Amino acid sequence: MIELTVNRKAYGDAPVIGALSLTLDSGELVCLLGPSGCGKTTLLNILAGLDRDYSGALHSSHYRISYMFQEPRLLPWRTVRQNLALVADSQQQQKIDELLSLMDLGDVASQYPGRLSLGMARRVALARTLINDPDLILMDEPFVSLDPPTAASLGEVLERLRQMRPEVAILMVTHNIREALTLSDRILVLGNQPTEVICEYFPEQKDGAVEQAEEKKLLAFYQKMEADELVVPKARELTAMG
Ligand code: ADP
Ligand code: MG
Repeated sequence: MIELTVNRKAYGDAPVIGALSLTLDSGELVCLLGPSGCGKTTLLNILAGLDRDYSGALHSSHYRISYMFQEPRLLPWRTVRQNLALVADSQQQQKIDELLSLMDLGDVASQYPGRLSLGMARRVALARTLINDPDLILMDEPFVSLDPPTAASLGEVLERLRQMRPEVAILMVTHNIREALTLSDRILVLGNQPTEVICEYFPEQKDGAVEQAEEKKLLAFYQKMEADELVVPKARELTAMG
């Protein structure tokens, strides 16, 4: 559905992304995990078509993209409902109600963003990304700075969304390995700059015990990689690492 090949992406002389290829099918939720500053946001901007200053190619069947930026970016002088209405046309008013209820936002529909917690504001931002029926949603660290219960409830909203619209592809940047294991179909671990995909991982999602073992394994791998102690062939599967 979407296929990106980057040969190189640099800001000035500083290379940020090395050789990297990434594909995403409809209905898939893929998490991008990588150290701070490795180029995750840069990669999302390229996928969104906002950044064309790179060597490589982006192929996609026709699709609508929605981008949930790291900051909710709501207009503070408009209510939650008005923020959603801003990106909807007049025939989509019913959809706003549907999304408010899907996201458990009914009670705050007439509140201003300044009154919302960060978790609530993120929900509104997520609701806004859904109004135009995207085929692909890009999410930049949607869970960062949320306390665990709030993050978990946003995770549940995401699961509900996937059940209701199983064809939507989601690419999500996260720092949280547990969240990545719980939510995603596939995890791509990005290395230090110039970044490449150094590991592709498919969470098992069987039971708690398996998940804990997986978390430990992935965490150890990730920490080693962050400390730059890891030299692995590109895109080698973690399970093969032992
Ligand atoms: P991440 O999202 O993984 O934390 P970014 O994609 O934001 O990383 O940034 C990757 C690197 O590129 C960082 O070193 C950052 O300082 C640099 N960078 C990001 N945007 C720009 C820009 N517009 N101009 C110059 N350097 C940038
Ligand atoms: Mg970023």
